Amino acid sequence: MIDQSTIDKVIDTAKIEEVVGEEVDLRRRGVNLLGLCPFHNEKTPSFTVSPAKGIFKCFGCGEGGDSVGFIMKFHRIGFLEAIKKLASKYNIEVEEVEETPEAIQRRKEKEAIQIVLNWSQGYYHQQVEKMKNSENHPKFVPFLNQWFVSSEAIEKYRIGLSTSSGDELLKEATNKGYKKEALVSTGLILKNRDQHKDFFGKELIFPVQTISGRVAGFCGIKLSDMSSSANVRMLGATPSFDVEKEILGIYQAKGEILKRKGCHIMTHPLEMVYLTQNEIPQTITILPHTLAEKQIKQITRFSTNIYLWCSENLGSILETYNRISKLIHSGITVKVIHINKENLVKYLKDQRTSTIEAHANDAKDWLHFLVETFYAKKEQLGLGNPDVFIKILQIINVIPDAIVKGVYVTELSRLINMPEELIWEDLRNL
Ligand SMILES: [Zn+2]
Repeated sequence: MIDQSTIDKVIDTAKIEEVVGEEVDLRRRGVNLLGLCPFHNEKTPSFTVSPAKGIFKCFGCGEGGDSVGFIMKFHRIGFLEAIKKLASKYNIEVEEVEETPEAIQRRKEKEAIQIVLNWSQGYYHQQVEKMKNSENHPKFVPFLNQWFVSSEAIEKYRIGLSTSSGDELLKEATNKGYKKEALVSTGLILKNRDQHKDFFGKELIFPVQTISGRVAGFCGIKLSDMSSSANVRMLGATPSFDVEKEILGIYQAKGEILKRKGCHIMTHPLEMVYLTQNEIPQTITILPHTLAEKQIKQITRFSTNIYLWCSENLGSILETYNRISKLIHSGITVKVIHINKENLVKYLKDQRTSTIEAHANDAKDWLHFLVETFYAKKEQLGLGNPDVFIKILQIINVIPDAIVKGVYVTELSRLINMPEELIWEDLRNL
């Protein structure tokens, strides 16, 4: 038995275009690659490879799958053999483990957790559907309308609803025969001594899907005031959910991020919905204080052009500063869209596509944003001129590329009217 972490590593590393490209002559066609199908005879290519989705698909014979599936079909071998083949291609050391009774137990538990997650996602989503079609909840349709969440968005993100703060999910799940231990492992049911209750109360619920579409966790927004960032929360880390890795919306956005060569990062799920509804589908959500290294790696698989949206709120400005710092450190191009309003959810909700597109086109380089905003708001931020200067230098200091760093020093010198030599000296003294 191959260790599960090895299997995950192989699946994460193997790029479909490279794996297929070794056997099939592929040509670029838009965001996809096209070639002659190796599984049936054809003269005009109908065999498509999608790097963004990580899959191949033949429109002639219907064959399709991921990298591992391709190797299995092409070489007519089993799953584990295919994993070994790919591992050797990518120089990944294969750790073979005897599947102990404990390992079998763990695998079964993981599978049980996934079944519960899938079912729960369906349950919450059904509640939205039920309300739409039911006379019992006449208030809910205007409620969703008032927040301008379209039916398309509800389907796209599989948005769901928890209608009571209590145990609606627990009751329904136990009725259906799901075990309490599995429910508790998902994090959706909280256990306190012998008492069980739902994690989510009256909340709008977004499933968090992995890049390949598996439901890994959930994000909820309290219905009482959906515009407040304080009312948004992720399910905590569970055996199935790595909060530092998963990204809300990446599954829906990845193809668009690749195609449009950029990614917009929002801090509230509804901001993401409003951008998506207005022709900017290359958008994801990362809650405040949670941008982690693993998430940055996930995003940069598709694009290294990042757009951060920032409001007039001081918390949002500081959050943007932190994000710039982390992203610049990873060698990413960052632009900021700074909107002169306190609350982005409330503002974006009422805007038309043309206005939102105009904002997106008005993105500023991160340095311009910092110089403008931090000097203008230094008193509110409790900073003096030297503090602002140091804060900006701290970011320039982590730019990994020496040439790019030089360009930013020159630009800063121009913006704040200070000789470059002095800036370099202060950089050295940091
Ligand atoms: Zn075919």
